[in-house]
Amino acid sequence: MKRRATAEPADRAAAILQGFDVAGFRCRLVDWFRHQQRDLPWRRDRDPYKIWVSEVMLQQTRVETALPYFLRFVERFPTVEALAAAEEADVLKLWEGLGYYSRARNLLRGARQVMEEFGGVLPDDPEELARIKGIGPYTAGAILSIAYGRPVPAVDGNVLRVLSRLLLVEEDVQKPGTRRLFTQLAAALVCPDDPSAFNQGLMELGALVCTPRAPKCLLCPVREDCRAYAAGRERELPAKGKRKAIPTVDMVAAVVWRGAAVYVYRRPEGGLLGGLWAFPDGERRADEAWEAAAARILRERYGLAVAVSGPLLDVVHTFSHCRWNLRVFQCAWVAGDGAAPDGRWVEVDKLDELAFPASHKKIVAALDGETVSARRGALR
Ligand code: SF4
Repeated sequence: MKRRATAEPADRAAAILQGFDVAGFRCRLVDWFRHQQRDLPWRRDRDPYKIWVSEVMLQQTRVETALPYFLRFVERFPTVEALAAAEEADVLKLWEGLGYYSRARNLLRGARQVMEEFGGVLPDDPEELARIKGIGPYTAGAILSIAYGRPVPAVDGNVLRVLSRLLLVEEDVQKPGTRRLFTQLAAALVCPDDPSAFNQGLMELGALVCTPRAPKCLLCPVREDCRAYAAGRERELPAKGKRKAIPTVDMVAAVVWRGAAVYVYRRPEGGLLGGLWAFPDGERRADEAWEAAAARILRERYGLAVAVSGPLLDVVHTFSHCRWNLRVFQCAWVAGDGAAPDGRWVEVDKLDELAFPASHKKIVAALDGETVSARRGALR
């Protein structure tokens, strides 16, 4: 049933929870989690730093993908202190391929802030934790409940999905007001005796059982509590408004050869993929020939005169806000030293020392001769 949009989230949460067996649900979920949880490295101790790193990595990223990155990261930077002392380039290199690089930069800034303001220890106070760069309400809730045993909610996309089904809440989960409602619901549900197992149990249930497209209701430990299952409506939830279609942008990039070196530049801080290295690139104009676009962009933006010698590969890369159709050309240098503020000529066998975003990492791989033919023809 739709609730009145004008009611305060706390009132609406109380109305939704009427008749719900909160105590029974907590027991069933916590018991299931204690017996069925996956053995994950950040669960082996309650180190707030490791929980922080894992939660940041797991935003927008699956556990299987994040796992090797996490292990490498905490081996190289085992403490807040070690991370705070790191160079940003080294942090980005370890993050290379994981995407959403602002997460890595904020983690580094947050670690430096924890050293300066909190003596290297993540605070267990919600307001102090919320002041740290890159720690939003979800990450704060995860750290407080898992590391410090504080009975606070931690609501991410998985938890939104589980609660919307469990309690048959039909509001659009993408609206800010709805997120406040779910935070109220999670706060009312969280188990005061074991908030760590409860919050991780909700996350684990969303990851393993109450999955987005095909929830495994017959295996679900809280099926008897679930209102969507009882109504046969679990696949209709969570309710989401229509997403806007993201625009596609035609981009060119160039591998400009000068002897055994190629030209690369460091993308400006604060912009898309800021702080990462890239081959010279830019947007193709409507109706402009691809080769002509490559020559124009190299001349106008990078001060390089080149002879374009042919396409190397095509890459399609989707961001949250747009999609790149990227065509990469090989070029022979003719004149110019390169005008990018942070540009340089790098021997091709030294490229592996720099951190590139996933789309440009494919260019580096293509230069190894591994993926050239496989990547051609990918543009739509
Ligand atoms: S019964 Fe199905 S829909 Fe309900 S919480 Fe369990 S898996 Fe999700």
